[in-house]
Amino acid sequence: MKKIMVKDLSFEVFISEEKIKTRLAQMGNDITARFAGEEVLLLGVLNGSFIFMADLAREIHLPLSVEFLRISSYTGTSSSGDVKSLMGLNTELKGKNVLIVEDIVDTGISMDYLILELSKHNPKSLRIATLLLKKEAFRFNYSLDYVGFEIPNKFVVGYGLDYDGLGRNLPDLYQLSET
Ligand code: 5GP
Repeated sequence: MKKIMVKDLSFEVFISEEKIKTRLAQMGNDITARFAGEEVLLLGVLNGSFIFMADLAREIHLPLSVEFLRISSYTGTSSSGDVKSLMGLNTELKGKNVLIVEDIVDTGISMDYLILELSKHNPKSLRIATLLLKKEAFRFNYSLDYVGFEIPNKFVVGYGLDYDGLGRNLPDLYQLSET
């Protein structure tokens, strides 16, 4: 088993670059078939989605535009916990087929916030593509339309995902090593 260190933690290969590529071709085909004859706007959530976005976009054979946004999160003084805001959304969503592109859905809180905020812009359709889903941690019942892999509730890095800012450039996906 190929192991690597990212900062102070040891990780082992979990999903190879080849497996990701194969799965993305299937997801791309599903998306292409679903939106046949229409235009689609891919809306990536930074930073984690940048590699997934680049690869998925090339597997979708439709007239496509690509935009990115960022969710900023800070702990406010209110009792409702984290205060979130959207940054970098500079494009009109009204009347468009918007497909959110996210690297990972864990509890689903971030995606729930995104759905709420983006719906206010009255897109024609709002769908979700996530590379990874931690099914056991997911607390919501909105539908995740395109899921690459359902994974256990363990920390992962690589293929765009970081540990403390590093590891995003690893071509494979790694999970935290038990040993
Ligand atoms: P959620 O709001 O669904 O609980 O969390 C989503 C965010 O948490 C993701 O966008 C990602 O930034 C972070 N996250 C959750 N699990 C992992 C993980 O295993 N690895 C990394 N690198 N980030 C994670």
